[in-house]
Amino acid sequence: MFRQVSFKELMKMFGVGAVALVLGVEWLDWLTRRLGFRRDSRLKEVLFFPSPQTCVEHLFTPDRSFPCACPLPHGTETSFSRLLGHLLSACVSLDLCLFSFSHVELSRVVLHLHNRGVTVRVVTDRDYMAIIGSQIGTLRRAGICVRHEMSTAVHMHHKFALVDGRKLITGSLNWTLTAVQSNKENVMVTEEPELVRPYQKEFQKLWEANDPANHKPQTKKQAAK
Ligand SMILES: [Zn+2]
Repeated sequence: MFRQVSFKELMKMFGVGAVALVLGVEWLDWLTRRLGFRRDSRLKEVLFFPSPQTCVEHLFTPDRSFPCACPLPHGTETSFSRLLGHLLSACVSLDLCLFSFSHVELSRVVLHLHNRGVTVRVVTDRDYMAIIGSQIGTLRRAGICVRHEMSTAVHMHHKFALVDGRKLITGSLNWTLTAVQSNKENVMVTEEPELVRPYQKEFQKLWEANDPANHKPQTKKQAAK
C-alpha cells in the first residue's frame, strides 16, 4: 500500500524541511520585530567624552587577588573604561582604522590583544604616524601589521575599530590623550550587521589599496612633490 521511500528521496525531503524551518524562523523573527513584540537585543551604545580618569587595571588583570594601589579612583565605570572593555572583548581579530594614535593605554590594549593571539591590523595616516608620541612604531616593533595611507595628497581620517568582525566602534574620537580626557567627542558601539558590514568592506578596501607590495618606493624627487 505504501511505496518504499528511497534514501535519496528521504534526504531530499529532509533538505526541503530544513529550508522551510529556517525560512519560517527568519520570517517569525522579522514579524515579531515588525510588530514590536520583541525588542532588538543587539548591542547599541553611545559613549561621550571627555572621560574622567579612573583606574582601568582590573580590565587587564580581572582575576588579581590583591587591590590596586594606584592613586586613581577605583570601581567607577567611565566612557573610557567602557571603550577599553569593548576592545578587550576581541577573541579573534581587531581591525583599526585610525588617523591619530598616541594614547598609551589604548596602545597597551592593542599589544595585550596581540600577545593574546588576536590578529590585529592597523590602517593609519601617513603623516600622523610619524608625530612625536605616536604609538604606531611601538605596534610595528611588536610585530603588528600596520599599513598607512599611501597617498601624500589626502589624510586617512577615519576613527573606527572592528572587533571580531562583528562589533563596530566608531565616532569622532582620535586615540589621543587630549581626545579622551579633554575634547568633546562621541563614540558609537554597535553590532548591527547592516552598519558593521559596510565598515568591514571599507577596511578591506583600504587594507588592500595600501598594500606596500602594490606601490613602488618613491624617489626623493617624487616624495618632495
Ligand atoms: Zn588602580
